[in-house]
Amino acid sequence: KSFTTDFKNMENPDFLDLIERSKHAMYNYQGISGYCRRGSNILSNIVLVVIAGAAIAVINPLIILVLVVISYFIYKILDSTMEWTKVNFRDAMSSNFRKNYYFSSTARDFKYAKDIRLFKMQDFIEQTWKDINTVYYAACKKNHRKWVMCEAKMSFLRLFQNLLLYVVLIYMVLNKGMSISDFVLYIGLVASFSTAMTDMFCNMVWMNMNRMELDDFRTFMDWNEDKPDIEKGQGVSKNIGLKQFEFKFENVSFKYPGHEKYVLKNINLTIEAGSKLAVVGINGAGKTTLTKLLMRLYEPTEGRILLNGVDVKKYDRDIYFKIFAPVFQNIEIFAFPVWQNISMKPENETDKNRTMEALERSGLDEKINKYENKIDTMLLRIFDPNGVDLSGGERQRLAMARALYQNREVLVLDEPTAALDALAEDRMYQEFNQMVKGKTAIFISHRLSSTRFCDKIVMFEDGRIIEEGTHEQLINANGKYRNMFQVQAQYYKDKEGEVC
Ligand code: ADP
Repeated sequence: KSFTTDFKNMENPDFLDLIERSKHAMYNYQGISGYCRRGSNILSNIVLVVIAGAAIAVINPLIILVLVVISYFIYKILDSTMEWTKVNFRDAMSSNFRKNYYFSSTARDFKYAKDIRLFKMQDFIEQTWKDINTVYYAACKKNHRKWVMCEAKMSFLRLFQNLLLYVVLIYMVLNKGMSISDFVLYIGLVASFSTAMTDMFCNMVWMNMNRMELDDFRTFMDWNEDKPDIEKGQGVSKNIGLKQFEFKFENVSFKYPGHEKYVLKNINLTIEAGSKLAVVGINGAGKTTLTKLLMRLYEPTEGRILLNGVDVKKYDRDIYFKIFAPVFQNIEIFAFPVWQNISMKPENETDKNRTMEALERSGLDEKINKYENKIDTMLLRIFDPNGVDLSGGERQRLAMARALYQNREVLVLDEPTAALDALAEDRMYQEFNQMVKGKTAIFISHRLSSTRFCDKIVMFEDGRIIEEGTHEQLINANGKYRNMFQVQAQYYKDKEGEVC
């Protein structure tokens, strides 16, 4: 579920807390396993209660009544404490558990190890972590106090119950002629009855807890996804089967879930089939968000996006995803061999020759071929002590190799060369030119020199398109694009205005 849920859910704290809570349903003795065990325990408790109860009822049915009433009170005390723990401790602490896990994994994560050491972050991270634990310990204390009170009340009731029974049985020995052997027998029977009864109620209380755990699990599994239901006719097509891809943003506005501010406002934009669109603008202008909406990682808050005139919502999302080859800004590598980091598929679905080809075209082959295992080299050291990590630029080349291997119809390149040196960048542009021939491509870049090969450029500012046209048109328009272009160009010129 975590692998397939809507992308937006993975940053929703409510959803993440629910994952934390629903994990309990998976543990041994909890959730479904607990439910089954408690259920079978209850059955054996019932058998004991019936047999011992019948024997006791022969001498005095009143004893049964006393035992049932007192056990019921014990049950109510236990049940309300358990429910309190579930709601006020476990559920209330789920975000605390998550934060705790964040710090424990950050402390162990190689990705953060450098910054933590260089910026000497240990002390304040530990302090923040301790603060989280302080909240946890305070909650634990409160929970323990609740349980101590619960145990005290239950012990008092059990004591009262035993006293009462001894009084009744001793009275029967003294006044009703009960023999000592019967007395001993009934003491044993009453003890068995009372234990089975308490056990039964205890199991019922735990079953209730397991039911609540299962409820969390079900809520998690049934979490409402944005997917249109093709079977119910809300989606038009499982198969996109198009040759050309033209996208149209119609009055699209967007705010991130849980946020008030619009990140994109009234975007009207056509990306013609087979054209190359450059998206430029300062940081935070909304460029990446535009591509996330295009790829349906998020749905527009208002407006719609059309693919060849059809609302993209109407396509099966998993199939829709397959038309895009993205190269993101931040490239994550997986602890898999190099070839698998390119194909992103299991071995039997991978063409290793093609992964090698993609690696060569991206310029990463030289580096990878130096390793003994070449394309079978493991990335990261999670599984293999000889695993390899890649630099920022090498990761971008790997992402490029991924996109080349996928050979999909629409390319989305988000700052794909930001971490590359000048020569590698030049080579990458040449590859891009080859790659995007005849395809629709969206290209986000800070470096305006790289946008010249695009058919159209849109400039974003504060979530809006402020300029749109070809490079020449925008330069002639003498607006912000031209200004940005000139600011960048001056770094490449000497005092006389010549390009260095
Ligand atoms: P750009 O690509 O132009 O640098 P982005 O599209 O990444 O800009 O971000 C636009 C705005 O949206 C920024 O203000 C950023 O802080 C905000 N933003 C980006 N991602 C999220 C998110 N997941 N949740 C909330 N706000 C976000």
